[in-house]
Amino acid sequence: MTGRERVYSTRAIVLKRRDLGEADRVLTVYTPNLGKRVLLARGVRRPASRKAGHLEPFAHVSLLVAKGRTWDLVTQAETIYGFRVLREDLDRIAHAYYMLELIDAFTEEEDSHPELYDLLLAGLNNLEHTEQFGLTTRWFELALLRLTGYQPQLFHCVRCSLPLEPVTNYFDPERGGTLCPRHGEGQPGAEPLDVGTLKVLRYVQTQPYEETMRLNLTEARMREVERVLARTIRTVVERRLRSPEFIRVLQQSSSS
Ligand SMILES: [Zn+2]
Repeated sequence: MTGRERVYSTRAIVLKRRDLGEADRVLTVYTPNLGKRVLLARGVRRPASRKAGHLEPFAHVSLLVAKGRTWDLVTQAETIYGFRVLREDLDRIAHAYYMLELIDAFTEEEDSHPELYDLLLAGLNNLEHTEQFGLTTRWFELALLRLTGYQPQLFHCVRCSLPLEPVTNYFDPERGGTLCPRHGEGQPGAEPLDVGTLKVLRYVQTQPYEETMRLNLTEARMREVERVLARTIRTVVERRLRSPEFIRVLQQSSSS
């Protein structure tokens, strides 16, 4: 896209939206080649708006966008896929919203990352077609961490680099992953990581989605995997929040 072009078309997934004024809406979308974008959809809350039904959160849409001074404007919107099954189940919806929030938290505006777009689309598609919402979301989390450069180390001790033994090791997201007993025990922030949980994390991190779905885990194991990943993600998001670049982006989006 050159500076002279006034209109562009793009596919997008709606991450979030907020109302503006009487009838407008500000949308945050994720696109394959333009990264995250904030767009204005004028008049979209009027009953007669033809764009309205196409701009719901996590809708996969095709947009025609006109460059504007403050915001680019959505001039046309068509649904590519509306995820109708996903929308019928509150638990599914909650997991989908969580995926949208993660993409929003891990990205900055106009930072193009086509693989993340593919991941989000795959994540939503998988949620639409599975009953295993938790495992699908854990797979999404580990893929997101990998693609954004925050993949936790699960095979070697992050201190001594020795391969981990099948014993209780330790996990510290601040240090980037797993520690051997010698380097993890008693360290502030390092929590014991049981060998079963480590195996599941490794499997989900390295196997294709379909393989991951073959796992049959106890509820306790699922909760532990979820807890370890939630802690990892919290650490990354907090680190991003502390970075000057991320704070600048936050200030821009809150003042706009
Ligand atoms: Zn070590």
